[in-house]
Amino acid sequence: MKWVRVEHEGMPAFGVLEDETIHITSLTWSEVLTGRQADSVAERPLAGARLLAPVGRPGKIVAIGLNYWDHCREQNKQPPERPLIFTKFTTAINNPGDPIRWSPALTQKVDFEAELAVVIGKEARRVNESEALDHVFGYTVGNDVTARDLQYGDKQWVRGKSLDTFCPLGPVLVTADEIPDPQQLAIRSELNGTVMQNSTTAEMIFNVAHLIAFCSQAFTLEPGDVIMTGTPDGVGVFRDPPVFMQDGDVITVEIAGIGRLTNRCVTE
Ligand code: MG
Repeated sequence: MKWVRVEHEGMPAFGVLEDETIHITSLTWSEVLTGRQADSVAERPLAGARLLAPVGRPGKIVAIGLNYWDHCREQNKQPPERPLIFTKFTTAINNPGDPIRWSPALTQKVDFEAELAVVIGKEARRVNESEALDHVFGYTVGNDVTARDLQYGDKQWVRGKSLDTFCPLGPVLVTADEIPDPQQLAIRSELNGTVMQNSTTAEMIFNVAHLIAFCSQAFTLEPGDVIMTGTPDGVGVFRDPPVFMQDGDVITVEIAGIGRLTNRCVTE
């Protein structure tokens, strides 16, 4: 099933996408996550619909650094021995199609990171890797937008990862039953139509099941929580010369079988 969150009669609503039609439901986010049967209170074409990030406001965003073999190679870094965890504040969440905004007075090194975003459906506390994927509701496309100057200047990554609008998600949340193997998905990013990242989730060092099991030993993953699973090689900062996003740039992240997430950059 393909879920979207859409503006309907001035309010956010959850809808099921079938072909090019959105079936608007009356379900709340928690009812969606628990698998409540979806009703259909209205229909509208996908074209022209204002789509929102497909998650409500999650309890937390767990983000993983250095989780692709190719991304470690491009920066001559040894792969980490265990998942490297940081967070993006939930206020960073941005809608598909909405601008990524920043002030050049704060940062001039804004980068893109194509990521598979995992949405937790069922509480996970101290789960084994073998059962971890049972706790996934679905998958969406994420862009872990990063202010590199803040990230490296601070040592701690959270500020540079958490600027308002720096976590675009969506547009579609595909339920886990439609993605039997999350480690076989083509993932790419395009900046102004030029392919920058072009890899596969098979390059992940720690797969989705391992990440869920690992996190859940330390803290509870709650329904609706989002895990940003890391990015492959090709990000702007490690290019020669480096490429950073500029006012007016258009960045797209695409994951096969899930969708394309496009945002324009606006400095202010
Ligand atoms: Mg990242």
